[in-house]
Amino acid sequence: MKKFFGSVFGMFSEDMGIDLGTSNTLICVKNKGIILNEPSIVTIDSKTKEIIEIGEKARQQMGRLPDGLETKKPLRDGVISEYDITEKMLRMFLKKVKRGGFSSPRIVICVPAGVTPVEKRAVVEVALEAGAREAHLVEEPMAAAIGIGLNVFEPEGHLIVDIGGGTSEVAVLSVAGIREKSSFKVAGDKFDAAIVDYIRQKDNLNIGIKSAEDLKKQIGAVVNKDQKDDIYLEISGKNFLTGLPKNIQVYSSEIVDALGEIVQLIIDEIKVILERTSPELASDIKKEGIYVTGGGALLKGIDKKISDNLEIKVTIPDDPLNAVINGINTILKDFSKYSRVLVSPDTDY
Ligand code: ADP
Ligand code: MG
Repeated sequence: MKKFFGSVFGMFSEDMGIDLGTSNTLICVKNKGIILNEPSIVTIDSKTKEIIEIGEKARQQMGRLPDGLETKKPLRDGVISEYDITEKMLRMFLKKVKRGGFSSPRIVICVPAGVTPVEKRAVVEVALEAGAREAHLVEEPMAAAIGIGLNVFEPEGHLIVDIGGGTSEVAVLSVAGIREKSSFKVAGDKFDAAIVDYIRQKDNLNIGIKSAEDLKKQIGAVVNKDQKDDIYLEISGKNFLTGLPKNIQVYSSEIVDALGEIVQLIIDEIKVILERTSPELASDIKKEGIYVTGGGALLKGIDKKISDNLEIKVTIPDDPLNAVINGINTILKDFSKYSRVLVSPDTDY
């Protein structure tokens, strides 16, 4: 890996941070804040693998593409074959914000924990090629913890649950390191798929994954409210018996039913991590509670559902979708203090 330290040119440019999430890519610049926030989605030519569109524009094209073009979420499955596309996508996002070229002394990047050392090195290379003189990696839950304002250097343990798009992560942190950790593919995309299945079975209606995500974001919940407060959203799909388009009203309480099993899988994973945690750290967590970050933290009632199950307090911070990028921004602002939390691309975390 090429690294050039202490270049005088660094003084004229700004350090940069990237949260390369399975659903959303965010880029921040030190002292300027977030300058890009787009879905990690591309439209590609199925044959040539050429990227036609990226980000929000690619998301708008989902389910509406002609033959020969397809939508890809290259980070979702974390497999190496899609990694070429991930690299290209990152390169295009960087180009979009670069405008006229920049040289960045330092880039701090956060990648989903499931990716392999080879893939991490590839991301680091892209950053270096894009003009960075140093590229550093930070583990997602660590960045999230810093982003929500926790003191990660103290000995007391913290438990972070980050529910993203393709993966969720549960991690116990203390003394600037990760003590226990699990990364698993049960997150936002699975919630969307469960909503599609539920409506297909209950209403004989096929809806698109994007409509399912809209339902989840607008009326999604994981615990029931009083019947009189049950809200609904009208959506359209295709009745698969008649083949015709049809509108139906979907109630929030139905989304609670649809998501029940999947939320339980996440809770079970938190239990597994708590069981593995040392008695000292576990008692810290019992006192302090659990923090939930990522887009999944916005599901109504997720805090109550987890805390009722595990009998531990649950906190949803302000702005859970930006926890990771805010943490990276904090690292950039005080790099020497936080250098201890960075990891080498060669560690298999
Ligand atoms: P990643 O870090 O994997 O890119 P994010 O933390 O950005 O993921 O979260 C993206 C996920 O959060 C998506 O599945 C999205 O549908 C979901 N999400 C976003 N807003 C909400 C909301 N208001 N309610 C429920 N889920 C949401
Ligand atoms: Mg994330």
